[in-house]
Amino acid sequence: MKVVVLERGERWGANDFEQSDDPRYIQKVMDIVVARSTVAFRTGKLVGGASINMDGGHFRMPSKAFDAKEASGRRYWPSAYSRATLDPYYAKVEAMLKVRQFAWTEIPKAGGLFAKMLDAAGCSCERSRMNYTDCIHCGFCSQGCKFDKKQSLILNYIPLAESKGAEFRAKSTVDHFEPDGTGYVVRYQKDGVAKEIWAQRLFVGGGGIHTPALLLRSKPWLPALSTHVGEHFNNNGEHAFVGVLPPEFDDLSSYQAFMGMDNAGMMSFHFWDSEGFSLHPGGGLEPSVFAASFADPSGMDEVLPKRSWGLEYKRFVEKVYPHRIIAFSTLGLADGHRAVVLGDGGAPDIVDRNRTTYDAYLDRVERNVFAVGQKSGIKLVPTTPRRLAGTTSAHLLTSCRMAESVADGVVDPEGHVFGYDNLYVCDASAIPYAMGVNPALSISAVAERVVEKAIAKG
Ligand SMILES: Cc1cc2nc3c(=O)[nH]c(=O)nc-3n(C[C@H](O)[C@H](O)[C@H](O)COP(=O)(O)OP(=O)(O)OC[C@H]3O[C@@H](n4cnc5c(N)ncnc54)[C@H](O)[C@@H]3O)c2cc1C
Ligand code: SF4
Repeated sequence: MKVVVLERGERWGANDFEQSDDPRYIQKVMDIVVARSTVAFRTGKLVGGASINMDGGHFRMPSKAFDAKEASGRRYWPSAYSRATLDPYYAKVEAMLKVRQFAWTEIPKAGGLFAKMLDAAGCSCERSRMNYTDCIHCGFCSQGCKFDKKQSLILNYIPLAESKGAEFRAKSTVDHFEPDGTGYVVRYQKDGVAKEIWAQRLFVGGGGIHTPALLLRSKPWLPALSTHVGEHFNNNGEHAFVGVLPPEFDDLSSYQAFMGMDNAGMMSFHFWDSEGFSLHPGGGLEPSVFAASFADPSGMDEVLPKRSWGLEYKRFVEKVYPHRIIAFSTLGLADGHRAVVLGDGGAPDIVDRNRTTYDAYLDRVERNVFAVGQKSGIKLVPTTPRRLAGTTSAHLLTSCRMAESVADGVVDPEGHVFGYDNLYVCDASAIPYAMGVNPALSISAVAERVVEKAIAKG
């Protein structure tokens, strides 16, 4: 088979990445999709996608996540999927990405403080499974690893594909595709010039926001597409919290909240069986991001300055922020409550849907996290007020979800788009439901399965 990959972004490697928080640089390596409803989601933008920006956590989904059901009793995951059936594909991806559990000596201080906080509250946690090799803890993971320590796709799958003859065309932005004979004509722009290419089989992998947009822009030529395209958009139950560690908690003088790794290398499944969510700590937040997060610091009056600007805030950033901040996030089996639609000029936009069950999930999460705070003596608050919860995330799932039939989803269990031969989706959008753990390993394992089945079809 001759394989051509069209990617809108540039092709970069270790020497191109910068250790910079300059928004102009960040926007070169990360796509920040800002929607009308104040939603801002982060996704990949270079050859290699968000594997360039991601924070390295790679977990297999626990069995319980595969068995999640919607209110009607329908299992979200098709019956072909379980932890046991996906395990061989997980193993393949883990070998490619060199995923392994970190040793304690590799955990930055932020991870140690997270573990100590949970221990003080009587909760368990464990060292994370990561795709970093000999990481030097420079703390610029989201900007692209300058040292090739993070095993992004540019170090494994992409060179392997190229060694077998695949061609990667960078700076090639796909607008839409149209059925043509037994295949599809893909219309795209390369360096501002309109181009087209015919494909016998088309695999769409634009991610949770851009794949539904690509399908919706192609709908005039694909009228039988499922009505689920763009619906059920899910942020994996991500809900971030921050706390200020009391001075007596630990010797924090050498702790630099923003150093280490962007992911603090720990994970807690303490609440998994009972409440359906995990906890994972970030490294530090950049002070500018931190300030933006506290545009409305309700509930933090005792520990945070009243405003996220001015002298009082400046002193806080100088004295308290570097040494005493702890930040972490939940990931859980939460319902999607947004949809990807087409906005101006055919660009993706995100709109709200019913969030009743999502709010019930947030209530549960907050109740449990506040209890951890109380028991450990750390005041913990969500980084966003409730009405803005889930308005930013890097986990963008289920907008073209997989299902047994077109009545419930967009693609079948083999990733094949209902109603259209030789058209597949193999990315985060095809995942049927929230995972409750970091998603990249499962997205890749499902993609491995989709491709294996497609090749077996001949
Ligand atoms: C900062 C950050 C940290 C993260 N940390 C973790 C983590 O620790 N663990 C974890 O499991 N996950 C993490 N994630 C999430 C994870 O990286 C994503 O879930 C995963 O990469 C999604 O894979 P994907 O193939 O669906 O999409 P992507 O990796 O986003 O790839 C989609 C690609 O399609 C391209 N594209 C889009 N539209 C077009 C078009 N019209 N034409 C041509 N090309 C197009 C994009 O440029 C992009 O390269 C993180 C993400 C971010 C942004
Ligand atoms: S912290 Fe590690 S993985 Fe992240 S950019 Fe630095 S060396 Fe690379």
